[in-house]
Amino acid sequence: KSLVVAIDGPSGSGKSSVSREAARQLHAAYLDTGAMYRAVTWHCLAEGVDLGDGAAVEHAARTIELGISTKPDHESMTVGGKDVTDAIREPRVSEAVSAVATTLGARSELIRRQRQIIADSGHRIVAEGRDITTVVAPDAEVRILLTASEAARLRRRGDQLGGTQTEAQLQAQVLGRDTKDSTVVNFHQAADGVVTVDSSELDFEQTITAVLDVVRT
Ligand code: C5P
Repeated sequence: KSLVVAIDGPSGSGKSSVSREAARQLHAAYLDTGAMYRAVTWHCLAEGVDLGDGAAVEHAARTIELGISTKPDHESMTVGGKDVTDAIREPRVSEAVSAVATTLGARSELIRRQRQIIADSGHRIVAEGRDITTVVAPDAEVRILLTASEAARLRRRGDQLGGTQTEAQLQAQVLGRDTKDSTVVNFHQAADGVVTVDSSELDFEQTITAVLDVVRT
């Protein structure tokens, strides 16, 4: 039976770790769509593709060979067979990724590939990103917007980075990227029929429970 769980939210909402664990517990596949935007960005930086040139970025997205693991227990991303699992998390990629995300031709290509991955999973998958509930899989059985207060998101991202950043640096990184991304996708308000889970006051286990409760109702 088809079970597509679509989860959107801003950066620092805990989306990725929560979605991955929910997929494990549901014995479903897991798709991190942000990793695909990051992989295209990594490729553009590596190949010297001008991120301000929309046609060139779209061409990169259309021709790139992406390999993404959808096993929740095995995180892996390859570009042209090269393992970029760790490289796509580097700050230089995070800083540049919004340029790819706001190139509409690149988006439509990645959306097409994401729909194909969902179909290939046999429609049993937890897919997370910024536009899954609204664009990639608006007909998903379960649609969730995972939110958290600005303070909670900054605190989590700070913990992830091991306390190496000042408050101002964190603010610039987390909120700056969301501001740029917001020009093309709305992940701050739940669309009609999308259930909001606010994780500001919840720990990891409680957030998983809240998400699985939505799946089971
Ligand atoms: O989820 P993550 O923070 O790794 O996503 C990286 C970037 O990819 C986001 O900042 C956004 O620019 C882009 N993205 C997107 N649409 C998605 C997922 C990610 O535009 N569905």
